[in-house]
Amino acid sequence: MWRATVLSIFPDLFPGPLGASIAGKALGKALWSLQAVDIRDFALDKHHTVDDTPAGGGPGMVMKPDVVARAIDALGSDARPRLLMSPRGRLLTQARAAELANGPGVVLVCGRFEGIDERVIEGRRLEEVSIGDYVLSGGEIAACVLIDACVRLLPGVMGKEASGAEESFTEGLLEYPQYTRPQIWEGRAIPAVLTSGDHGKVAAWRRSEAERLTSARRPDLWAALEAGLRPRQKSAPDG
Ligand code: SAH
Repeated sequence: MWRATVLSIFPDLFPGPLGASIAGKALGKALWSLQAVDIRDFALDKHHTVDDTPAGGGPGMVMKPDVVARAIDALGSDARPRLLMSPRGRLLTQARAAELANGPGVVLVCGRFEGIDERVIEGRRLEEVSIGDYVLSGGEIAACVLIDACVRLLPGVMGKEASGAEESFTEGLLEYPQYTRPQIWEGRAIPAVLTSGDHGKVAAWRRSEAERLTSARRPDLWAALEAGLRPRQKSAPDG
């Protein structure tokens, strides 16, 4: 079973949104498991202090290395990657989510305040992962994002096994536009090709729409895709 362990000073935030819909149903069916560990339980003083003032001065508080490390060490060692949710980390991508979903699970450390003491990151070899170039007030929402992105890729979790294969980013493209009934809504019709019954034409239309949207909205993805395609087109000119 794919196992997620989250270390946080707000363990009550879990499962939160992960308890609903696709992820929640899969959790109920034991297709994955979730453990929320309260970092505060590992503070030994009578006030259960988890933070202290930053060395060198400045605003805010920093999570104490000894407390966070004790919480991590209490898990024992297993094969799961230990990740720290952090705006300084490598950006989470669909490819990384797929890689993590293919493994045994994740151990996620959630920061609060100004973050955690650098020595725990080094000493416990935490890999920093960011969910985007903005700053949240804590790692818990970021952990939910990461877990949700992984869980929906686990075998048996999504309704149709195939529904992940054509999605945005899977092939480096944004997804084509989707429609459903009614056929005409506020004077706008569903593109005729989608109701033609011609599966080849539908696939070609979706591909060209995905390409049009990606090149217009995400020149970065489009450039990466073109760079990746060029050598293949060279070696297989008729393919
Ligand atoms: N002072 C830090 C920000 C701390 S925000 C800095 O400037 O880098 C508090 C906590 O929120 C962080 O420790 C981290 O766990 C979480 N967090 C904030 N933004 C995040 C992001 N973009 N991705 C992942 N986690 C984030």
